[in-house]
Amino acid sequence: MASKTKIINLARLSRVFHPLSTSGTLVGEETTEITSKSHRLMVDYGIIKPVSPGMYALLPLGMRVLDKLVKLIDKEMANIGAEKILLPALTLAKLWEKTDRYDVSKPELFTVADRHKKEYILSPTYEEAICNLMSLTGPFSTKLLPLKLYQISSKWRDEMKPRLGFLRSREFIMKDLYTFDTSLDNAKHTYNLVCESYNNIFRQLGVKYVKSIGDVGTIGGLMSHEYHYISDIGEDTILACPSCNFSINGNISETTNCLECKNKLNSHTVAEVGHTFLLDTKYSQPLKAMYIEQNKFKPMAMGCFGLGLSRIITLIVDILSTRNEIRWPVKLAPYTVCIIPPKDGSKEESTSIYVEQLFEILYKRNVDTILDDRSHYTIGKRLLFARALGYPYIIVIGKSATQTIPLFEIHDVNNSTCRELSLDQICDYFDNVNEEQLKT
Ligand SMILES: [Zn+2]
Repeated sequence: MASKTKIINLARLSRVFHPLSTSGTLVGEETTEITSKSHRLMVDYGIIKPVSPGMYALLPLGMRVLDKLVKLIDKEMANIGAEKILLPALTLAKLWEKTDRYDVSKPELFTVADRHKKEYILSPTYEEAICNLMSLTGPFSTKLLPLKLYQISSKWRDEMKPRLGFLRSREFIMKDLYTFDTSLDNAKHTYNLVCESYNNIFRQLGVKYVKSIGDVGTIGGLMSHEYHYISDIGEDTILACPSCNFSINGNISETTNCLECKNKLNSHTVAEVGHTFLLDTKYSQPLKAMYIEQNKFKPMAMGCFGLGLSRIITLIVDILSTRNEIRWPVKLAPYTVCIIPPKDGSKEESTSIYVEQLFEILYKRNVDTILDDRSHYTIGKRLLFARALGYPYIIVIGKSATQTIPLFEIHDVNNSTCRELSLDQICDYFDNVNEEQLKT
């Protein structure tokens, strides 16, 4: 039997701040045009809320999805010895002038001035800021290198036409990692290590991704790779080989045949979710991020690596969901299980005593669970709602729970299956779910 203290931890849907809407337009505000399935579903089902053009509030269910993604990334970063930091949102504009990025980037930068008229940038990326930190803390002994520092935070870009929700928003959530090595060769080694870790992250999310030779764009550097999801709402085109792993950004290549196996390349519309750059000393030289060797100061060889968290979430919803129902990878769903007890005043009402036992089973297995306690609604209505929110597993306490050996409906939403199981069988069922999750 569950103790009273544990049942207190059970999340109840009636208590979740979960405003539902049917378009996300703001009173007295410029309309945020809703043009993609993911944008509409995330707004309608209370995952995000548009608050001003191109800016969104993440609501509690959306925040849980983000937290799960952050946890998954933190774990992979720890595996490669990367350490988490947090830089200030504002970067001195002067630093961007030193790297000649200020003038070219200005149209898309949010800038602010302090009381002394000193200008700052609301940072879209942090190469300058991290090099400044390194310059203030260095020069580093070779023994301390490589250094791998990352943060997960809001970034800003003053998009001319913000659209598609978090896909092109003006404030977005990005993980950015910066690495520092003694030589270009060592930096290449670190670069490959980070790319492998990015592969692990995308593999765990379970949505097919493509890694392409990338366009270095305004960040610059010697080499770059992009991670893409294939999606019609994307803004990029890649050329990919159907027979091997070769793939390249369409902007930087006229190629028609695979450079590896000579097969004809296919063109795909894609959305970028990650980007890696081998920078060498492009930023460390002008900003004096140095190490010391034989009494000489030398600029560190750098890499920088971005992952667009709000874009990953938006695209996964777009790719996996049906027209009217959100689908999540089990690892990202706001809750893994939703329990639906019987309707108040129904013949089955007495079976609501099983809520505690079911919760105890799931709690012991670390399966996060929400109870749809709005028992004035029918089971059918709440089942439709739980499917629309995309909880991967729904447990219904219905008619079969009144039998001598009570049975419960377990809906596996992602695989469209439903089975009736006893409490013992439910234990085995979620042991297996956990084992499957550990494998990926
Ligand atoms: Zn090929």
